[in-house]
Amino acid sequence: MKRFSVLLLALVLALSGCARKPAEAQIFAMDTVMELTAYGSGAEKAVSQSEEVIRSMDAMLDRTSEQSEVSALNRSAGAPAAVSETLAQLLCAARDYAAATDGSFDITIAPVMDAWGFTGEHQQVPDQSVLDRLLPLVDSRLITLEGTTAALAEGQSVDLGGIAKGYVSDCVEAVFRENGVESGKISLGGNVYVRGSKPDGSAWRVGVRDPRGEFGYACILTLSDSYAVTSGGYERYFTQDGKTYHHIIDPATGYPAESGLLSVTVVADANGASEGSPAAPGNGAMCDAFSTALFVMGADAALEFWRSGDYDFDLVLVTEDSRVLVTGGLEGRFEEYEESGYAYEVIH
Ligand code: ADP
Ligand code: MG
Repeated sequence: MKRFSVLLLALVLALSGCARKPAEAQIFAMDTVMELTAYGSGAEKAVSQSEEVIRSMDAMLDRTSEQSEVSALNRSAGAPAAVSETLAQLLCAARDYAAATDGSFDITIAPVMDAWGFTGEHQQVPDQSVLDRLLPLVDSRLITLEGTTAALAEGQSVDLGGIAKGYVSDCVEAVFRENGVESGKISLGGNVYVRGSKPDGSAWRVGVRDPRGEFGYACILTLSDSYAVTSGGYERYFTQDGKTYHHIIDPATGYPAESGLLSVTVVADANGASEGSPAAPGNGAMCDAFSTALFVMGADAALEFWRSGDYDFDLVLVTEDSRVLVTGGLEGRFEEYEESGYAYEVIH
């Protein structure tokens, strides 16, 4: 009898999909550590399918791998090339975000990234003459795209590092949705997606890292069905002659952006708009592109862009002068982090 009730309980838990133990995976892809957690009956399948999607997108979009589709596109610069539906959609979205941000986000930054050595082992400050020669190539309006035929201008190449992880979070959102996952959280190196709420019904807690140090938070966001993507100069950098150079480049100067911001977090609804397999770029890709772009723009221009209302998102800006600016849509959805020493302002 006892054994029977234990079996019955296990069956009920499995069928109700609320087994407390999540399906989890930690993988290294796209040059970063990725963590996936999902609850519910479809969770195991959702996590393993997500892992497959992540691996295939990494193989497609990694420009440091000669075999990738992006590398083939870069090699073909100067002539039209056939690309996959996925890459075509991503190029199209990236161009739109470049136009929307006045070129602060631009995937044709690749030759400049290379001049700084950010793709290889050895980083250095490039000569101004080199930057002067390369900067005219940084202009995604020079990309032509017709259906699944793309042409980069002679000398151009694209770097999807500022949008790829966000796009992959769109793909995972679709996989979770299609598998009936009701609760889950993923973190793809600074790109977070939370599905539903925690199994206990409370909102997910997403920490915005304190960009000044390894530990602690600038604030904590309480989110459901959202993307939250952070860009900061503290992620990847090198030092030369006592000065620090990070990996987010201002396309206007060819130098690492110095806009008075330490980090930008962009939050938007996970609206489930992405259809197809793999999914089309959605708000995950948007948040990633905008986190990079708004870091380049600086606080004033970023808030002006937010106020324009052309895109639906909210922001957490951490400034060099120790302020944390949180836009109105997050009111009631963020907690100050007491020990941080930051001054908090809600922006309307
Ligand atoms: P991370 O990759 O650390 O999460 P971001 O999303 O901000 O950070 O992306 C930074 C990456 O995007 C760089 O490593 C580079 O590949 C690319 N990149 C750098 N500057 C720009 C820019 N202005 N526009 C588009 N992509 C950029
Ligand atoms: Mg980005």
